[in-house]
Amino acid sequence: MIVGILGGGQLARMLALAGYPLGLKFRFLDPSPEACAGHLGGQVIAGFADHAAVLRLADAAHVVTFEFENVPAQTLAFLPERVPTYPPAEALAVAQDRLREKALFRDLGIATARFAAVDNPNDLASALDRVGLPAILKTRTLGYDGKGQVTLRAPSDAQPAWARLGGVPCTLEELVAFDRELSIIAVRGRNGETAFYPIAENLHRHGILHLSRCRPQDPMQAEAEDAVRRLLDAFGYVGVLALEIFQVGGRLLANEIAPRVHNTGHWTIEGAVTSQFENHLRAILGYPLGSTAAHGPAAMVNLVGQLPDLGRVLAVPGAHVHVYGKEPRPGRKLGHVTLCTAREDELDALLDEVLRQVGEP
Ligand code: AMP
Repeated sequence: MIVGILGGGQLARMLALAGYPLGLKFRFLDPSPEACAGHLGGQVIAGFADHAAVLRLADAAHVVTFEFENVPAQTLAFLPERVPTYPPAEALAVAQDRLREKALFRDLGIATARFAAVDNPNDLASALDRVGLPAILKTRTLGYDGKGQVTLRAPSDAQPAWARLGGVPCTLEELVAFDRELSIIAVRGRNGETAFYPIAENLHRHGILHLSRCRPQDPMQAEAEDAVRRLLDAFGYVGVLALEIFQVGGRLLANEIAPRVHNTGHWTIEGAVTSQFENHLRAILGYPLGSTAAHGPAAMVNLVGQLPDLGRVLAVPGAHVHVYGKEPRPGRKLGHVTLCTAREDELDALLDEVLRQVGEP
């Protein structure tokens, strides 16, 4: 079986690493000759809108999936006619547009922060009236890792923020004073079977995920599962879907979806019975899903910008290092460390040690 993947970054690389034991082969499409998944399978070096190249990938694969969220909608529109393609194009289209995403949450009865559309500068005043301050202005499309967003604290911030974001269609969202940032990773098979990982509690630095910690038996698990299940059902989804959530007091507010394997699920490689990567492959290939149970307490620390001394990190009991093979660059995700232990109190101490070794006190 050959799996075609649109995108050749670390997510594609980890999908391939999970797929080899199943006897799968991989082919990637990515414009960069240095794409870090490229060593693990054949690569078509081309842009995501290059239809001829996408067809070459499709014709060489039994099933196609994607790891890159900005694959043009047109590309995913014609692919399913050629080869089974999962997750569904509709989920990707929604994830690419913050307004459609929030509107879908609302339609499905999933709570969100207050939001309003800002299509032109004349909308700013009425959007501020509806949303209030402080607020975040976000570009509707192409935002990632905290890029494409500006915080507004006073009405006079609005016009400069709009200009700074390039005068493109935006959403204005209430700035939530959240107690915790959470995510839930769910998976749905071709036959509708679903499974949910324990929620992860996440910390971001400069808009980039820094630390995730899985929280088995968290009191918010059932409510988070309910929200993501509605999304899986609405899309007739196949594959792994991540939902990012803010917790404010006892309430959950959905922020965004990622229709793919997700950084806050990397702990599942060593920390769960079946990793999110294997389960994504099982789902898209029509195999039964594997157990999503955690072996025990686990955490994941991203390696951003530069790599630490790997020997020192590996000296921490329970630490596993994943290096993606990418050129170091400020703000770039180069790898991650997963830490698995038997007891929560043990995890705290060992996590402090990992954070010291990766230079993040
Ligand atoms: P996003 O691109 O929407 O995932 O935003 C990146 C990060 O900015 C989130 O993980 C939060 O830490 C923060 N953020 C985004 N939207 C909000 C909001 N409405 N209220 C508070 N913080 C937010």
